[in-house]
Amino acid sequence: MINPHVIVIGAGLGGLCLAHGLRRAGIDVAVYERDVDESARPQGHRLHIDARGRKALAATLPEHLFSRLAATIRRPAPRVNGFDHHLRATGVFPLDDPTPEPGHAEMPAHTVIERHVLRRILLTGIEDVVHYGRRCVGYDTNGDGVTARFDDGSTATGSILVGADGISSAIRARRLPHARVMDTRARLIYGRVPLTPELRRTLPPAMFSVFNSVLGPDRRFVGIAPVADTLAVMFGCRRERLGLPDHDLRAAPGHHLRDLVQEHLTGWHPLMTRIVDAWDPDSVHPVVVHTSVPVPPWKPSNVTLLGDAIHAMSPAAGAGANMALRDASELTSALAAALTHHRPLLDAIGDYEHAMTTEGFRMVRVSAANATRTLGADPIQPG
Ligand SMILES: Cc1cc2nc3c(=O)[nH]c(=O)nc-3n(C[C@H](O)[C@H](O)[C@H](O)COP(=O)(O)OP(=O)(O)OC[C@H]3O[C@@H](n4cnc5c(N)ncnc54)[C@H](O)[C@@H]3O)c2cc1C
Repeated sequence: MINPHVIVIGAGLGGLCLAHGLRRAGIDVAVYERDVDESARPQGHRLHIDARGRKALAATLPEHLFSRLAATIRRPAPRVNGFDHHLRATGVFPLDDPTPEPGHAEMPAHTVIERHVLRRILLTGIEDVVHYGRRCVGYDTNGDGVTARFDDGSTATGSILVGADGISSAIRARRLPHARVMDTRARLIYGRVPLTPELRRTLPPAMFSVFNSVLGPDRRFVGIAPVADTLAVMFGCRRERLGLPDHDLRAAPGHHLRDLVQEHLTGWHPLMTRIVDAWDPDSVHPVVVHTSVPVPPWKPSNVTLLGDAIHAMSPAAGAGANMALRDASELTSALAAALTHHRPLLDAIGDYEHAMTTEGFRMVRVSAANATRTLGADPIQPG
């Protein structure tokens, strides 16, 4: 069988992880990214990487990059703490800690990492196959091949096209036009607080864990997660409770959003208002929470999808990036095995899509249920 050339649309976490995996498996790959360069957009969020993400990274990255990643990350206590708005503990939820597979042990099963740090590591060593400033606007299939079209008029032809182009995927829009993404009506306001020595002393020691969930009246919520030398702090509630229409929410400067959140926290424990007061206004931004709606299985072709492009989910389970990395690793294994065992590539893509949608859509439902329970976000409406 001739070695396929794989075209990946999107140099996000999933697309880059796939590029590493394919290169490691000796499969030819090119990645096309709409941003003009790596720093074109702030890559703000902190990410919780779990054992699924760890396994995928260990399977796809060259060993030296996996070791570099493991050396970079912090090791928060593997649990999620629940508090009420007076900071009284309401529960401790230990996170599963499976025995690491050989070679994974240098990284814990649960860790937090800055998204831009992970992306930088994922970009290392594959710079020659990542093409920036190329927004894909569609594709055409022709016999055994597929040609991606870009907004600058250029094209790229390969044997397989992978849409790793995130929640607004142009590839999904063409491949599965019936697949929907819906607004959950949950709104988040996200910001960073420098973790000064004084704040370190003031925070309850239990808070130095993967995530802390502080639930107040009317399902208002604050999430707190230490990452590197900052606290990632997000406020959440339903859209209609926020007191700011979406248009204004998107346009509001950081200090206005901070003041709005402070109003919502009236009567909460003083440490909560102190933390939000210390938000770096430049880091404060809104997140409109969307989720994909699972779709029934489809017939495989040489155009497939991974990550948020097919199973975008509420961040309420901290799983979207882990799923995107897992997809990348699963797709790599499926294609590599097909080449080794001389199986048709379409069978391999079909197997991948089955595994990817089973777990990906399961996590979409879990994440939506978490968001509904915590924030009263809209449950997924069946398609
Ligand atoms: C507040 C928040 C917190 C989160 N926390 C976590 C967490 O703790 N753990 C976790 O696992 N997940 C978390 N997630 C989810 C996670 O961020 C996503 O699931 C993950 O980024 C998906 O990766 P991806 O590669 O599929 O898509 P993306 O990372 O979105 O990458 C898509 C890429 O495609 C590019 N692109 C888009 N359209 C085109 C086009 N037409 N042509 C070319 N390129 C294109 C984009 O520029 C982008 O670079 C969080 C999300 C949010 C919003």
